[in-house]
Amino acid sequence: MQCQLGCPQLKGLASKAGIRVLLDRTRNLHSPKRCSVGLAQHLWARQREARHGTNPSTRMNTSPASLLQSQPVTGSIRLAIIGDVHSHWYEDDAEALESLGVDAAIFVGDFGEEAVGLIRRVADVHTPKAVMLGNHDAWYSLTAWARNKWIMSGAAKGDAVYEGVVKQLEILGSDHVGYTGKAFRAKSGAHFSVVGARPFSKGGRSWTDVEEFYRHTYQVDGFDTSAERIAAAVTSQPPDSVVIVAAHNGPSGLGTLHHNICGADFRPKAGDHGDPDLEVALEHVEAAGRHVPLVTFGHMHEKLCFGKKTRNMIEIHPDTGTVYLNAAFVPRVRHIKVPASNTNSNGDSETASADETTPAGGQGSKAITAHQFTVAEVTDGLVTKVSSVWVGRRGRKGGFEVVARKELLETVLDQEGQGHYVRRNIWRGFDRVWESVITRRRTTLGTGDSTIGRYVDAELGSVQVGTE
Ligand SMILES: [Zn+2]
Repeated sequence: MQCQLGCPQLKGLASKAGIRVLLDRTRNLHSPKRCSVGLAQHLWARQREARHGTNPSTRMNTSPASLLQSQPVTGSIRLAIIGDVHSHWYEDDAEALESLGVDAAIFVGDFGEEAVGLIRRVADVHTPKAVMLGNHDAWYSLTAWARNKWIMSGAAKGDAVYEGVVKQLEILGSDHVGYTGKAFRAKSGAHFSVVGARPFSKGGRSWTDVEEFYRHTYQVDGFDTSAERIAAAVTSQPPDSVVIVAAHNGPSGLGTLHHNICGADFRPKAGDHGDPDLEVALEHVEAAGRHVPLVTFGHMHEKLCFGKKTRNMIEIHPDTGTVYLNAAFVPRVRHIKVPASNTNSNGDSETASADETTPAGGQGSKAITAHQFTVAEVTDGLVTKVSSVWVGRRGRKGGFEVVARKELLETVLDQEGQGHYVRRNIWRGFDRVWESVITRRRTTLGTGDSTIGRYVDAELGSVQVGTE
C-alpha cells in the first residue's frame, strides 16, 4: 500500500481543516481499548487476513473478462433510505417520501412478519424504488425451527411455509434487488444501479440453520456461493453507472463492539454480527476495479438493546472510502415536538433536534407525527452528505416538510488540492461526537492504483470537531 503521509497537499488540507496529520501511519491506528470512536483499520485488516489468508481477488470464480472498465462519472444522486419498517408504513408514508423529491428510495427490509398486505402498499409507492427483504419478511420460513413451530401450530402445512415469501417476491417483482440490480437515472442525468446483497439475512456466521431456506429459494448453498452471486451482480452493472449496494444486514469486518455499526448488542459478549458473504463480495469487486461508494442496510437497530445509548450508524472504510450506512432508526414513525412557527427571526426554516423524538403513541404532547427517512447524497461518485430527516405536517391540511433532522455525514472540504482528497465528518452516535476522516478522492468508478488512507489524529481531542 502506497504511503501518502508525506504529501504536501494532504498536509495543507489537514492544516486548513484544523487537524494534525500523523507522520507515521502506524501511529494512526485507533485502539479499541482506548478509543471507541474510530473504526479500527488494523482490526479490519487482521480479521480479513485471519479469515481468508489470501488476496480476496483470487478467491472467486468471476472471470476478469467480465469485470468492466471504470468510467468517469459525474452528477448528483439523492436517495431516501427507509430502514426497518416493523409495521410502521402508513397510508401517507408514500406522500411523505415524495415530499423529499429524491431520485430513488431504497427499502432495506423487515416490513413485518411476512406482511404481504404491507408489501402491497410498498409496491404501490410511485417514487422509483429498490427493495431488500429482511429476516422478519421470512419470519415463519427462514429457519427449520421457525418452520416447524409454525407447522406445529396448525397454521401451515408442508411447502405452504414458503407461501408468504413467494407472494412478497411476486408482488415486488423487479423492485426486489436481492442478488440482482436495478438501473435508475437521477434528475442530474447520472446513471446509477442499486444492487442487492443476500435477501432475508438475519446476520452472523451460522449457515446451518438457514441452509434449506437459501437452497430452496435461491439455489445458494453457502456463504461462498452467496458472495459470488453478490459480486457478479455488482460487476455486471454498466460501466458508467454508480453502484449502490443495498442489504438487509451490513457486512462483517466493521467491528466487534456492541455499538459498532453491525455489532451484536443483544448478547453480553457482543461480537461482529455482519454478513461475511457481503464483506467478501465487496472486497472482491474493489480488488477487481469496481468502486462502490455506498453500502446501505438496516437490521441492527440504532437504539442498543441494553442501556440508553445508540449505535454508530455510519462508517467510512479506511482503504476504499466506501461509506457504510445503517438506516435502522426504529421506530421510524414517532411523535416529535417542533417549533410553533415555521420560521425564526432570521427567516430560516426551523427544525427540531431529532434527539427530541419520542415513540409514536407516547403520552401527552401536542407533538406531530413524523416519519423518518435517511437521505444520502452521492456527488460525482462520492457520498458527500447523509442526514436522518423527520418529515411531518405542521398543519392539519398542510403538506409534508422536514420538521427535524440530524446530520450523519458532512463533507467539509472538497475541491482543495484539485480535489485529490476529501475530508468528511461522520457522527459517532455512541460517543456523541464527530470524527473527521480524510480519504483520497476517486475520480472514476474504479479503484485503479489509488490508495486511500484514513488520516485522523489518534488524539481524541483533535478528532472531535464538534459536539452537541
Ligand atoms: Zn432484521
